[in-house]
Amino acid sequence: MNFSPCVFSKHLFCKVLNKDLRHLPSYENCVEDAQKFSLLTRIHYLLPDDTFIEPCGLGFVQHNRPPHPLTEHELDLIYEQPFTRKLHPKTKNFEFNQEMVERLETSVILGRGCWGSCNFCVIPLVQGKKVAKRSKESILKEIENLYKKGYKKINDLTLPTLNMYGSFCQLYDEPQIINSPIIDEKITVYNKTKYCNQQCVGCPKRVLRDDLYPLLEGIEELHKKYSGTTLELRSAIRHDIILEQKELFRKIMQFTTRLKIAPEHISNTVLKQMNKGTRKDFEDFLKEYKKINIEQGTHKNLVPYFIAGHPGSTMDDMELLRKFCKEKDIYVNLTQVFTSTPGTASTAAYYTGEDTFTKENIHVARNFREKKDQKNVLVEGFDFLKDDESG
Ligand code: SF4
Repeated sequence: MNFSPCVFSKHLFCKVLNKDLRHLPSYENCVEDAQKFSLLTRIHYLLPDDTFIEPCGLGFVQHNRPPHPLTEHELDLIYEQPFTRKLHPKTKNFEFNQEMVERLETSVILGRGCWGSCNFCVIPLVQGKKVAKRSKESILKEIENLYKKGYKKINDLTLPTLNMYGSFCQLYDEPQIINSPIIDEKITVYNKTKYCNQQCVGCPKRVLRDDLYPLLEGIEELHKKYSGTTLELRSAIRHDIILEQKELFRKIMQFTTRLKIAPEHISNTVLKQMNKGTRKDFEDFLKEYKKINIEQGTHKNLVPYFIAGHPGSTMDDMELLRKFCKEKDIYVNLTQVFTSTPGTASTAAYYTGEDTFTKENIHVARNFREKKDQKNVLVEGFDFLKDDESG
């Protein structure tokens, strides 16, 4: 998680407490009252850069504010370390794990973080909502080194959401000089001074950048220099945002054999609970995807992720999704049943049976059978995917 809990005794705590720290409902209150747990989640979601104190037992837990998103210089230094790219020789079940990591062996990291604000996702809590990126030069150097070592194929450029590479929020406009513990130099980081509602997709303060485009052009140059080399993009893109990045969309398509996206559903009531783009966004995306395939003379598969049993989702919603996929000839092969994850708004909704922000009552599939049934409605006709087979 982004926060690092520290436990103080109440006595010591009273002496050192900064009065500006925000107080969260206590652990005991949250256990007794689901509404307090919902409130805690809401506060934490809406104020991701703050420091909090949560009373717990005889002491307190301090949720420290997340560290600054690493600068290019810092990230470059980390990822330019001489990693072996191999499993540790003493790894348990070596052969089994070896198969799992083979594809990752030549995967190159672009950065960290995602501002998509999907209610079920822990990435913003684990990596932050600000996208930290490596420099183009550092990434190209790593790829070239792999080609020089004889690797013929790079198996991905990874970022939680590929098309967010280089994007940033203009509201982080207050500079602060700090000493970087990574490069041991003074660096400038930026703080946000005004409140916002954390709805980053479509926010006028969000600056989308196509920095991935010149990076992919740089990779094309490497392919001319090292004959027989290729790179395949496998990471998912955010399908509603890419509609504002049409040239980049076309360039990404040149590096895929099948494109991964995460519409997650098609019912607008469920999409609202997930904080995802609307059905229309997905339909617009499908039109553009088809258009690019025609332009590029290809017929590439689309790989959409869907979630069954998300808070707010009913059997009728899943039926709607199934019909949509049939009508649009969408191949359903990545569907998972909602799993509650620590700290997310969807988990609070699952627990309380209410929308975490509006407090309206929602349907929640809690028992195992209903969750599986929701999934099976969707995969009907795709017999090989029933029950546990697709995660
Ligand atoms: S100002 Fe907009 S883009 Fe920036 S963090 Fe807030 S909601 Fe996201």
